[in-house]
Amino acid sequence: MSGTEPFDLASLLAQRGGDRYALHREYLNPQLPRMLHAIGFDRFYVRGEGAYLYDADGEAYLDMLAGFGVFALGRHHPVARQAIHDVIDAGLADLTQFDAPPLAGLLGEALLARAPHLDRVYFGNSGTESVEAALKFARYATGRPRIIYCDHAFHGMTVGSLSVTAGAEFRSGFDPLLADVRIPFGDLDALARELRRGDVAAFVIEPIQGKRVAVSPPGFLGEAHALLKRHKALLIADEVQTGIGRTGDFFAVEHDGVEPDIISTAKGLSGGYIPIGATLARDWIFQKVYSSMDRVLAHDSTFGSNAQAMAAGLATLHVIDQEGLIDNARRTGDLLRTRLAEVGERFEFVADVRGRGLMVGIEFGRPKSLKLRGTWAALQAARKGLFAQTVVHGLFHQHRILTQVSADHLEVIKLIPPLIIGETEVEYFVNAFEDVMEDAHSGSGLVLDFGKSLIKQARA
Ligand code: PLP
Repeated sequence: MSGTEPFDLASLLAQRGGDRYALHREYLNPQLPRMLHAIGFDRFYVRGEGAYLYDADGEAYLDMLAGFGVFALGRHHPVARQAIHDVIDAGLADLTQFDAPPLAGLLGEALLARAPHLDRVYFGNSGTESVEAALKFARYATGRPRIIYCDHAFHGMTVGSLSVTAGAEFRSGFDPLLADVRIPFGDLDALARELRRGDVAAFVIEPIQGKRVAVSPPGFLGEAHALLKRHKALLIADEVQTGIGRTGDFFAVEHDGVEPDIISTAKGLSGGYIPIGATLARDWIFQKVYSSMDRVLAHDSTFGSNAQAMAAGLATLHVIDQEGLIDNARRTGDLLRTRLAEVGERFEFVADVRGRGLMVGIEFGRPKSLKLRGTWAALQAARKGLFAQTVVHGLFHQHRILTQVSADHLEVIKLIPPLIIGETEVEYFVNAFEDVMEDAHSGSGLVLDFGKSLIKQARA
């Protein structure tokens, strides 16, 4: 193609933004627009700010999903945005590959100040890369092959992290994966049994599992770490989702007083602006992996440590401190869970409200009364997880709130909003949830009509 037309992003979006679903149908994963259409989520958002999204009609949507947890500061935080403008305008000699980029050094220093028992950081570009690095570092440093992971774990979608991800919906058809072994979440005996074989490099665990919002049992992480130390194996905490303040501590492991050998993190670290991943580890692990000048590239990534991601990371940590967002996550999360639990008492479908900080799960279960049990059984027979999907649908269509079912075939919805939300958003969400529950419990509500229409679609 040739021509003299200037590149104009704003007019490109103005002219073609409306084609988004058609473009995806034609050129990208076609199931995405199909699925969004099936559940009526195929909106045309044009703007995001703070904890809200806005569609072309100017309607606001409360975003309790935050891009799967990346918008820790809310969307378009002015400090993070300015940092990215500044770093681009600075015209740095970035990605030289033959120098030591200063912003990566500064972000490494800032991150390690928040995990003082760890000594060095590797920067990649995503959560899965931060886990891949952790797995490779653990295997190399211990000289052992096996990694232990938990039932229901989610650690990413590339082959290494997929090997320690439990869901059959992600794994099947991609075999053979790495030879790893799965144990029940929180089962010390099973961990001890596997460790006795003497070939385990590490145990990888999410302190709070994202898929079910399952909090690791009190004391488990500490006891697991003691056991691992005895067997000279490492503890890897996957804090891709739980890290950077989400659970009311900078890293969720702080709550348990545990000091893992390796921490993987990503998501909120760049405030949602630029892909980023970070793997923090003890010095001796780095010394083994990068043991000589010949091994300088033993593990590396071309875009890792890029200046935009590093600048966004530094700005994000600055804002988290300045705005007290970790305290806010703890306080607002406590309020949200308390209010939801109060409301949940009144509704038979609500089985549990759990989580920590602003990582909250609402689990639904079989109701007691005969009338509601019929509805529950019909939805369960069609597809497990359908009730939770009807609640997500009701919150969206009746109240313009974006949430998600926490995982396939689970009756759990997950809330991972930006860490900036306050009482206004909590009250709005709780009132909306109450309304959707009233509707579901009335037995003839819109919520269940949607469930029935999904059953029909599934049958068709
Ligand atoms: N680990 C955990 C705990 C996650 O929640 C995720 C993503 O949701 C990942 C790893 C993978 O991160 P990414 O999607 O950035 O590769």
